[in-house]
Amino acid sequence: MIVRKQLYFFCLATLVGLASPVALAQQKHSHAHEHGKGNLEITLDKNRIVSRFTSPLEALVGFERPPKNQAETDAIATLNQRLLNPVTVFSMNAEAECKPAILENKIVRDAANKHADLHYQLEFTCAKPAALKQMTIHLFKDTKHLKEVRVEFVGPSGQKSSTASAKSSTVAFN
Ligand SMILES: [Zn+2]
Repeated sequence: MIVRKQLYFFCLATLVGLASPVALAQQKHSHAHEHGKGNLEITLDKNRIVSRFTSPLEALVGFERPPKNQAETDAIATLNQRLLNPVTVFSMNAEAECKPAILENKIVRDAANKHADLHYQLEFTCAKPAALKQMTIHLFKDTKHLKEVRVEFVGPSGQKSSTASAKSSTVAFN
């Protein structure tokens, strides 16, 4: 009888867990929040490239809660200055003559203010799309907490996944 009761509670807990808002939110995003790891979705369509970068804020500045002192406030401001200058974050090979525009640049915090993600979306318009070869991720050098970026690339020849890191910071388009 006792065993049966425990089993009942276990099943109930499982069902509640699956239906919770957290579980639903995680299903919506293709990648979970994982410290040290960013995600980059690149879509190439003719002369346009949209790149959608999400990363735990921890990977970029070393903390995620709202800034508590001047040094942390400055770290966020420095990051934002850089994000406002997209070529210092991501760039295409120069021959393709691509110009970036910022579509989204915001920090999304969880309800408890414990975890936060950067959502950073760019659109590149390229004058010579036939010359497009690769995209370089410039973040590894000065963001020491960023260990890797999981890349999903979608282009004319299909979809492919790769992982970029300090040692291999370019994403080839073919
Ligand atoms: Zn976190």
